[in-house]
Amino acid sequence: MSVTVRFCGASRTVTGSCYLFETRTGRFLVDCGLFQGQKTLKELNYGAFPFQPADIDAVLLTHAHIDHSGLLPKLVRHGFAGRIHATRGTIDLCSYMLPDAGSIQESEVLTLNRRNVARGRKAIVPIYTQADAIAALQSFTPVEYEKWIDVIPGVRARYWNAGHLLGSASIEIECADGAASKQSIRILASGDIGPDAKLLQPDPDAPSGFDYVISEATYGDRERPATTPAERRARLAGEVRDAATRKGALLIPAFAVERTQELIVDLVDLMEHSHIPSAPIFLDSPLAIRATEVFRNHAESLDPEVDVQRLLNSSLLRFTETVEESKAIAKLTGFHIVIAASGMCDAGRIRHHLRNWLWNARGTVLLVGFQARGTLGRFLVDGATAVRIQGNEIKVAATIRTIDDYSGHADGGTGAMDCGTPPDQARPVSGAWRGTRHRRPRRTCFRTHHPCVPGVSAAARRHLRTVSQRAGAARGRPPPTAGAGSRR
Ligand SMILES: [Zn+2]
Repeated sequence: MSVTVRFCGASRTVTGSCYLFETRTGRFLVDCGLFQGQKTLKELNYGAFPFQPADIDAVLLTHAHIDHSGLLPKLVRHGFAGRIHATRGTIDLCSYMLPDAGSIQESEVLTLNRRNVARGRKAIVPIYTQADAIAALQSFTPVEYEKWIDVIPGVRARYWNAGHLLGSASIEIECADGAASKQSIRILASGDIGPDAKLLQPDPDAPSGFDYVISEATYGDRERPATTPAERRARLAGEVRDAATRKGALLIPAFAVERTQELIVDLVDLMEHSHIPSAPIFLDSPLAIRATEVFRNHAESLDPEVDVQRLLNSSLLRFTETVEESKAIAKLTGFHIVIAASGMCDAGRIRHHLRNWLWNARGTVLLVGFQARGTLGRFLVDGATAVRIQGNEIKVAATIRTIDDYSGHADGGTGAMDCGTPPDQARPVSGAWRGTRHRRPRRTCFRTHHPCVPGVSAAARRHLRTVSQRAGAARGRPPPTAGAGSRR
């Protein structure tokens, strides 16, 4: 059995996940994500795929984040006619996130084309529209965790909870020649892997017996201090109490999916236990409101130690759906909390709130996630004394604070490079591992001849160690060595 894996995205960058698997019997993708971040990366979304969409027989989707799912509507629009396999949680989230992404692209192109016309340039068309995204949702097929599905003849797959996001999965792929099952090749596509003690998510599950692991390494080149849920909550409580003493708004820019729900759960719990002053919590993002409904609907699949249903239904929450409701928040005085997208302050309703409060010494901005270079969030973190929002220069008098405890990704972890896997044979995707950047970004995959794979956390390493340790025993053969299998 021969399998070729081609890395069509998430190489030298953390976005645009897309891996093309080819066997004698067909072709399928793992993920089909949007490139995000700098302009040069975003431009990749407008180019042709490095394959013919009509030649792809199926897609295995690890999770709903746009950098993993965001080009699926483009794939369908350009001729893909197969099934997109995903968990029900992922499908529910995609059913809001993909149309939202289509609508953002339509409005971005509208703005861009106004400029293009003024400068005598050719107008461009959106990567896909909201209607394309809705059409693409028809191709989704639900899968259950831990149950085999047939992908193409001779290839089957099984989804395991990756503990990263509602519905997220590491996907076990088995490619066999049919009768000669001993010659099958087993591969794990990790998707994004959650960190230890992630709020709302159970720990990642541990499948076993793989020849290859394609592992994410978004934070593979760094290590963050281990944080327990109690420590994270205590840090948040400290920030909220400080903000309350200033008697103005506490603005929390947050990603609409998962990060927002984690913050709500922590804030409501802290208020219910009187660890912080009670105050209205405005959820000012239509997508975040939809995502919160999805979390309520899938509460049974989340961490059983958290009463998600009760906390996400708290009377302390105010959902502001319309623009008018959003604008009404601006009239409020006194301590209140506003959670709004985007997480890096470069778009969305949070910019209106920042314009209203940044100049005011009573205001507080709490940044809870990664702030990419060039974004408004990064300028604030870096101590800018004035920023431009919607054409206006605004002095920064509000207090700017950060918390780095709400990441959805595993980090490098101690000993991540002690595995004896030479850097030219073992490469992560979606990032880097400690001390090096992968230098050959395309058409590489790596073999787990050692249980410790670079660039993953302690939880993820446990997950992968089980995989490798069981491999030899389960299959009655010595652990595989590097270099076997097909590669191009
Ligand atoms: Zn993700």
